[in-house]
Amino acid sequence: MDHGIKTVGIIGAGQMGGGVAHATAAAGFDVLLQDLEPLRVKECIARIEANLERQVAADKLSEEAKAATLQRIRAVETLRDLADCDLVIEAAIEEETVKRKILQQLSSVLKKDAIIATNTSSISITRLAAVTDRPERFIGIHFMNPAPVMRLAELVRGIATEERTFAESKAFVEAMGKSIVTSEDFPAFIVHRVLVAMINEAIYTLYEGVGTVENIDAALRLGANHPMGPLQLADFIGLDTCLSIIQALHDGLADAKYRPCPLLVKYVEAGWLGLKTGRGFYDYRGEAPRPTR
Ligand code: NAD
Repeated sequence: MDHGIKTVGIIGAGQMGGGVAHATAAAGFDVLLQDLEPLRVKECIARIEANLERQVAADKLSEEAKAATLQRIRAVETLRDLADCDLVIEAAIEEETVKRKILQQLSSVLKKDAIIATNTSSISITRLAAVTDRPERFIGIHFMNPAPVMRLAELVRGIATEERTFAESKAFVEAMGKSIVTSEDFPAFIVHRVLVAMINEAIYTLYEGVGTVENIDAALRLGANHPMGPLQLADFIGLDTCLSIIQALHDGLADAKYRPCPLLVKYVEAGWLGLKTGRGFYDYRGEAPRPTR
């Protein structure tokens, strides 16, 4: 279908905002990128340029395509600069008060029929929609990390989301060359609910001494054909992120099966957050990763 989307605003130039900006511009849309701190936008565009350059060096992208993608991304300073966008994707930090404030301000400046989407991983779409002036034009588009590489986005309707909003958002994601799955508006949606519950169970398996780090990872890699073991994957996602997702499931669904494993809590308290801090279930500071237990 014709989604009518040409210009896409992205709020938050972090890991996800940057990835979504890259993927959106590469698919031929004009992108306006905004962040509370203008320096973050500059750094983010430099990161996108470096990623594109790597693709050129690997012969996966032409110089022309790189230049065209970069040309489509423009840094802007305020939400007011997003007024004429057809779609705005909110990808600021995962704090409800921050997102609420952004969405309220955006509602007052954005043209009437534009779609507002959020990339939140855990906050209720219905609750965020309620602070906007257009809950029927509001939707969750949950991209995976890294957004330029991962082939899926989860589409999440709030209670008021209109069918037209869903259909246009679906067409937009498909125009980016990605597939969609539809999730109802419940904590952690589908991907993280299943994935993080499995990771938490793998950490319990370690905690209870059923297997070692290497045994548990090898078991799932070779025994279930997973490309990465669950503990290695947890280190990749970030143990703090894993903990906040399992906590959101525990709080939101009040089911003991989502009780965060005490060992996960201990690693997070130690600041051993995985790859990004150099240590998690593996120690990455040497030549090859070594299990920490
Ligand atoms: P991040 O910390 O890398 O980036 C967040 C950015 O938001 C920062 O640049 C920050 O300066 C900016 N920001 C903060 N307040 C702002 C404001 N008021 N206005 C504009 N910008 C503001 O975080 P991230 O990992 O990119 O996550 C962003 C969103 O994407 C979150 O909602 C998160 O749940 C979701 N998400 C993350 C992942 C992931 O794996 N990291 C995956 C899917 C979805």
